[in-house]
Amino acid sequence: MSELRELYQELILDHNRHPRNFGPLDESNCMAHGDNPLCGDTIDVFLQVEEGIVKKAAFEGSGCAISTASASLMTEAVTGLSVDAANSLFATFLSLVKGEGKNESGRMGKLAVFEGVQEFPMRVKCATLCWHTARAAWSEDSVSVTTE
Ligand code: ZN
Repeated sequence: MSELRELYQELILDHNRHPRNFGPLDESNCMAHGDNPLCGDTIDVFLQVEEGIVKKAAFEGSGCAISTASASLMTEAVTGLSVDAANSLFATFLSLVKGEGKNESGRMGKLAVFEGVQEFPMRVKCATLCWHTARAAWSEDSVSVTTE
């Protein structure tokens, strides 16, 4: 295991043990629920979106380390972004975890830790569940998503 890989592993463990932005958000005006039945991950994402900007993001749920760490890092990553920028970050994140397209991990910041899941197709759903759920919340086109 490379040193970088170990560092990434640490970041995932840290965010799993101490998830950021965990808990309901009083100011939330968009929310959605997501399920990944394959792994048993469930999540609720709460967003405060004002004038097309994600002002605050939080989540609650239970699941594996990858799903929890991904949700924790996702809430940090989208806070302060416009909905358009958040959608585009999600698209880049998807191609990163699926190992598709050009490698843009360099501009993904901490989210690049999930590059390793492309070797584990089952885990891709764990890592992307929170993003699908958050997109449902900020798009307000559905309030419930499932990876199946
Ligand atoms: Zn999972």
